[in-house]
Amino acid sequence: MDHLPTSLKCPNCASPIREADYDQEQGTIRCSYCGTLMLPPKTQRSGAFRARPPVALPSGMRLETNMRGLVIYRRWFNWPVLFLIPFCIVWNSFLVGFFTSMSGSNAPWFVRLFPLGHVAVGVGLSYYTLAMLFNRTRVEVTHGSVTVSHGPLPWTGWREIAAGLIDQTYCKEIIRRNKNGVSTHYEVWVALSDGKHSRLVAAGMDPEQALYIEQQIETTLDIKDRSMPGEYRR
Ligand SMILES: [Zn+2]
Repeated sequence: MDHLPTSLKCPNCASPIREADYDQEQGTIRCSYCGTLMLPPKTQRSGAFRARPPVALPSGMRLETNMRGLVIYRRWFNWPVLFLIPFCIVWNSFLVGFFTSMSGSNAPWFVRLFPLGHVAVGVGLSYYTLAMLFNRTRVEVTHGSVTVSHGPLPWTGWREIAAGLIDQTYCKEIIRRNKNGVSTHYEVWVALSDGKHSRLVAAGMDPEQALYIEQQIETTLDIKDRSMPGEYRR
């Protein structure tokens, strides 16, 4: 381990990457300061750093290749979302019952409108549940651009970035604390040649899914030869 570069910096927080941040077993680098996960730059994948086998297609993902490049699909479905279905049914049934009983009564208007906030929650939660059941994220990588979209239910997060602007991709660790404990998921980010950073895929992914997208983008766009500030060059 005496050949490790000392000048490699975390693309997210710019902390120097230390020897302990290299996971030889996994073939990945994890910034010990901010948790960012990334594949080592290709210039380092030989020599001091043991070459890792390519990230296999993770579960919940599908890969299509075509003349222009490739498309990665990721299903949003996860089993816990099934628990939301009975909740949505009970919530919405209660509201339907409430408005049905109000329609025949002469209750004042503010009593009739009282549950509008509950209606908003019911609609929002139902839409979220349907999206989690049926939506997919589509990441198209061509030599011209990287495009991210979500559907069939409309959702925010559409992105298109010119391939020539992408200097590096990396996986940002997002930690959420809620009453059930701590959940960790990953987003895919890109460092652009103008020095800006842009979130490419925000959907809550596990590390293998995020690393897979990073790998496919870097391989297709052949990012290895572009220099990053602080990147180790032989
Ligand atoms: Zn970092």
